[in-house]
This record gives sequence, structure tokens and C-alpha cells, in this order.
Amino acid sequence: MLDNLTQRLSRVVKTMRGQARLTEANTQEMLREVRMALLEADVSLPVVRDFVARVKERALGQEVVGSLNPGQALVGVVHKELTALMGGEQSAQESELSLATQPPAVILMAGLQGAGKTTTTGKLAKWLAEGGHVQNGRKTGKKKVLVVSADVYRPAAIEQLKTVAGQAQVDFLPSDPSQKPEDIARAALEYAKLHHHEVLIVDTAGRLGIDEAMMREIRALYDLLNPVETLFVVDAMQGQDAVNVAKAFADALPLTGVVLTKLDGDARGGAALSVRQVTGKPLKFVGVSEKLDGLEPFYPERMAQRVLG
Ligand code: GDP
Repeated sequence: MLDNLTQRLSRVVKTMRGQARLTEANTQEMLREVRMALLEADVSLPVVRDFVARVKERALGQEVVGSLNPGQALVGVVHKELTALMGGEQSAQESELSLATQPPAVILMAGLQGAGKTTTTGKLAKWLAEGGHVQNGRKTGKKKVLVVSADVYRPAAIEQLKTVAGQAQVDFLPSDPSQKPEDIARAALEYAKLHHHEVLIVDTAGRLGIDEAMMREIRALYDLLNPVETLFVVDAMQGQDAVNVAKAFADALPLTGVVLTKLDGDARGGAALSVRQVTGKPLKFVGVSEKLDGLEPFYPERMAQRVLG
């Protein structure tokens, strides 16, 4: 995951650590390396500029120059700024799902086709059903989960969710391509209430690109379902494109968080570092395999540590 970025940054970090003295020249050189590493990893240019400017400002400040080991202090600054970039200031509550509501707590999944919505729906359902959910830092126990697909354009999508729900061992409400997405959503809400499901996850249709009809449809689902979580699922392999798509979804829907999938691929990973900045929404989970246990809660600090190697 993020291997290239990690390799490059850890090289810079190693050189920095060795510097007993920070000069204008070696600081510039180091910043240039960091900038190149981030750009090559596909982090968007404005985000990189901002990042490098902040590191530079702090590097020239007392915190680094006045320290006993400036190289080491500079590594600390890069680490802090990387953490901030990925949402370091996001509170624990922001990283968690907020499910404390009158049941069923509805989670609406949004994103383009192929982003990993259905897979992530299965992963989340399994994680919740097995008691993975944390609220205020404490596990809240196993949840009774229902999943439903409102993707009426691809019958295969409904079948796929059925299979995934079977593997996750959660309840699946069948839907049919002849139904309207809003009718499916209404039926699912009623069914979940009747059968005392604590969580209802609604998988939605995704198109190949952003289009207005899709945005209107998911907005209508949002208004009807009043979800406590609206998660934008995005493929890390999409690179720069992911950032534009994220922005479009964030403009159209009150998103509560982002799930970045396929971080196990040979993604350059820059999307992970830009998506938070661009949408202003917390990254809540990352997908790290095709399997249903391949979902990890996202912690900015840990990710920054990983990236720095
Ligand atoms: P949807 O169209 O948004 O519902 O996307 P799918 O859930 O069908 O996922 C598209 C493809 O990506 C499938 O082949 C999934 O197995 C794969 N996929 C989803 N999440 C991950 C992940 O985190 N890692 C990997 N390696 N593959 C994933």
C-alpha cells in the first residue's frame, strides 16, 4: 500500500535524520524531494503546494532550527503535517460511524460503478454484525443488519449483493429491477422496522461517470431515507479522477464520510492524501482486499506513520 510514496519519503527521512545542521540548501533540497514524492504519488497539485508551504514555514521556525537534532525535528514536522492532511484533527467521533439514532440507523452508499460499493456494503455489514462498531471509543456490540440494493439498472448488482450478504451472514431484502429505487428504499425501511433491524445499509446504482440523473436519484433516496451516514465510496486506483468525482458527490449530497477502496492495489495512493482535503469529509474506512474482512477503520496518524515507513 502506498509503496512508492513510502519508499521515496523514507529515503528523504533517512537523509534528513542524518543532518546535524539545517541549512537553507539542504532544507530546500529536502522539500523538493517531498514535493516530487507527493506529486508522483498522484496527490493533487494544490494540496502538494499547500503541504510543502506549511512544512517549510514550520521547518524555518524555532521548533526545528532551535532543536538539538534538526533533521529529526523536521521528520516530526512532515509526520504531523501528513497526519493533518489525512484528517489528523478529525475527532474520534468523526472517524466512527454515528449510529446512535432511532433504529434502523440507515447508511447510504454512494459512488461510481466499480468503486466498490457493493463489496463495501458487505464488508460493513459483516463488521457491524460481528460487533466491530465503536462509539465514543467503545464497542457497541453486534448489530442486526439488513442490506438492500436500489440498483435497478443492473440485475447482476442485486444478485451480487445477495451473494455478499450470504457471505457476511446478514439479512438481505430482495429487490427487483422493475421497482423504482424510492419504492425499494421505502419497503426496506418498513421491513427493517418490522423486523427490528438496528442498521439498514442501502447500496445504490453507480454510473460510469458523474451524471445529473444519478445525482437526482441518489438525492431523492437521501431525502427519503434520512440516513445517519452517507458514505462516498471511491477507488484509490482512480488517482486524480477520484478527487474530481469526490468533489461532485460532496457538492450534491451531505456526505458524512469517505471509504477509500483498493488500497491493496498498486495505487499510487495520492487520492488518499487529497480526498480528505478536497471534500472536507473524514475518511472513515479503507478497503484493503476483495474479501469481506478487508475493511479497516481509518486512522490518520497510523496512515501517516505507514506512509513515512
Ligand atoms: P460497485 O460497482 O461500486 O458496487 O463495485 P463492486 O463492489 O462490485 O467492486 C468492483 C470490483 O472491485 C470488484 O471486483 C471487487 O471485488 C473489487 N473491490 C472492491 N473493494 C476492493 C478492495 O478494497 N480491494 C480490492 N483488491 N478489490 C476490491
